[in-house]
Amino acid sequence: AKQRGKNNRVRYHDGMEQPVLAHARIGGELRRALDEGEFRLHYQPICLLRTGQVVGIESLVRWEHPTRGLIPPSEFIPAAEATGLIVPLGRFVLREACRQAAAWLAEFGPESMQKIGPNVSARQLHDPDFVSDVRAILAETGLPADRLVLELTESAVLRGKQVLRTLNELHDMGVRLALDDFGTGESSLSLLRAFPASIIKLDKSFVDGIELDEPGTPEADARQAVAHAVAQLAGALGLDTVAEGIECQEQADRLLRLGYTLGQGYHLARPMPAERMTEMFAGQRQL
Ligand code: C2E
Ligand code: CA
Ligand code: CA
Ligand code: CA
Repeated sequence: AKQRGKNNRVRYHDGMEQPVLAHARIGGELRRALDEGEFRLHYQPICLLRTGQVVGIESLVRWEHPTRGLIPPSEFIPAAEATGLIVPLGRFVLREACRQAAAWLAEFGPESMQKIGPNVSARQLHDPDFVSDVRAILAETGLPADRLVLELTESAVLRGKQVLRTLNELHDMGVRLALDDFGTGESSLSLLRAFPASIIKLDKSFVDGIELDEPGTPEADARQAVAHAVAQLAGALGLDTVAEGIECQEQADRLLRLGYTLGQGYHLARPMPAERMTEMFAGQRQL
């Protein structure tokens, strides 16, 4: 609710309306930024924990603002979702990720870049054109469908039959689906029965502190138990797992022992611009 304050200015005191106005303003900014080409993708490797070999890449969007510099997704994705601009922005992300992945494949061969994983918002999944957009982008960029892994959060997937139909169509095209931030949603287990996922990404919150091993730290024990159970469950269902947010070797070692073969995190490699990734593939740079 709003109130007329002194000087007749509108004041907000319960935090309900201000974000809407902020979103409306940022919505215009986002539209402009999209038209001006200010969004860039950074890429973070997904690696074999044992050897560090890169087996996949997640794309992460950034806004290169002309005056404010590099803006992280946490500062504009919520507004893009609220204003609906996530649909054209997400289409840009998908096209750019597929284009770049196809270029890496052409230059460095099928071993270089096994899978590219762009993030997809709930709002995009609900867009009736989503499946045909994906199909058109794959055709246009020449990326084989089985190289594409769409990263979806549990909450994005939860809602409704229509989404399930969309996901099944993508699956039938050969596109892979990864359940992002796994373990933070509300019905992870029931979701797995219906959802045609190929990959589970164990959320960073279960990786943080997982290396701690002092007796009497029940939190660390609980994280280990959950991480282990998720790995076992995934194995039983024939799904791959990726552990997210690995920041030290001790975490990587512990995750290996708990049944993980794939990981992602600053310890393995930070997100980087495409050119850095290209140098890495060209053998000019170590991760
Ligand atoms: P996410 O999909 O869970 O992506 C992982 C986030 O963790 C990324 O943050 C990544 O930079 C960060 N990260 C990776 N390894 C580590 C680590 O070892 N330690 C720590 N502290 N962080 C690590 P980023 O790039 O800021 O993205 C944040 C979120 O924004 C993403 O979380 C995703 O939900 C969303 N996002 C990013 N790009 C896109 C996009 O193109 N479309 C949509 N819809 N959402 C996106
Ligand atoms: Ca993700
Ligand atoms: Ca994640
Ligand atoms: Ca996340």
